[in-house]
Amino acid sequence: MIEVTPGIYRMPLPLPIPTLSHINTYLVRGDNGSLLIDTGWNTKEAFDSLKKQLADDGIDGREISRIVVTHAHPDHYGLAGELENLFGATLAFHHLEKDFIETRYVNMDELIQELGQWLHRNGVPPDRLAELQKASLPMLRFVTPTLPDTTLYGGETITCGDFNFEVLLTPGHAPGHICLYEPDKKMLFSGDHLLPTITPHVGLHPQSSSNPLGDYLDSLKQLKKLEVDLVLPGHEQPFTEFKDRIEGITLHHQLRNAEIMGALGHDSKTAFELTTEITWLHDVNGVGWYKLGNWDKRMAILETLAHLEAMRAKGELEKFNKDDIRYYRLPQKAEGNE
Ligand SMILES: [Zn+2]
Ligand SMILES: [Zn+2]
Repeated sequence: MIEVTPGIYRMPLPLPIPTLSHINTYLVRGDNGSLLIDTGWNTKEAFDSLKKQLADDGIDGREISRIVVTHAHPDHYGLAGELENLFGATLAFHHLEKDFIETRYVNMDELIQELGQWLHRNGVPPDRLAELQKASLPMLRFVTPTLPDTTLYGGETITCGDFNFEVLLTPGHAPGHICLYEPDKKMLFSGDHLLPTITPHVGLHPQSSSNPLGDYLDSLKQLKKLEVDLVLPGHEQPFTEFKDRIEGITLHHQLRNAEIMGALGHDSKTAFELTTEITWLHDVNGVGWYKLGNWDKRMAILETLAHLEAMRAKGELEKFNKDDIRYYRLPQKAEGNE
C-alpha cells in the first residue's frame, strides 16, 4: 500500500494476464467511513493481496463503507461483489455500465450470438468466427456479478474525509466510464480513460455507442479543460503530465487513422481485412495480427472498427453492404457531379 498523498493510498493488485501487470485500487480514508475506488479481478491472488495490504498497514477493511468502480470491466469490477460482502460496503457505478451486467456476465448467450453476427458482417472468415466469438468467456470466472446500490449519472459529488470528488462521465473506453475529479486538490482518478503509457482500448461492438472513438476523443477534450496536477490511473503509475498525455493519445489516434487510410488506399475493404494489414503493439517484428492471441485479435478488430466508424462520422469514409458484409471505402463522388 503506497500513500500517494495524505489520506489516499494506492494498492496495486495482481492481474492474471501477461500484458498488464496490475490494477490500481485506491483507498481514500475518511472519519465516517473510507472509500475504495476500483476492485481488481475476482482471483484469490488479488483478494489476498488486498486483504494483506490493508492488514500490513493496520487498517480494518470494515472501515470501507463505499466502493466506486470506474467501469464494469473485469479488472475494475470483478471483485466488487466479494468486497461488498466482506466489508459491508455499498457499491456505486454508472447506470450505463449497470445496464450491461446481466447480458455480459449473467446471461451471455444473446450477446455471444450478436457478437458472432457482428464479426461475420465485418469480414471475419467463417473458420475463425467461433474462436473470436467466444474469446472473452474465460474472463467470466473473474467476475462476481453484482448490481450497484447507488447508480451514478455523472455530476454527483462524492465526499470522503477532506476530499470532494466530482463524478465525470467519460465515455469511450466503456460507455459508462467515470473519472473522479477533486478540484481543490487538482487530482483525477482516471480509471482506464487516461493511462501514462498504455493507450486505452476503444472498440466498437454491440454494447458500445455507435462512435466510441469519437466519444472517447470528445471526453478527453472535455477533460483537458480541467486543472489536474496528479493523475491516479487504473493501471501503471500515478503521473503529472496530464495535458501532454491527452495530446499524446490524441496524436496516436490520428496516426492510427492515417495508417488505416494508407492500408485502404482506393480499395473497398472490410474491418477484418484492414485489421490484418496494420501494425499491432505486441507485434515487435511487424508480423501482424495473426501472432496475437484470440482475445487480443478480437480487441484489434473492434479497435479498427472504432477508427473506421469515427472517420465515417466525419465524412472521410463511407460504408456499403455486399452479401451482408460491410465494406469501407473513400467517399465516392455522385455520378454526373464532376
Ligand atoms: Zn477497462
Ligand atoms: Zn483496466
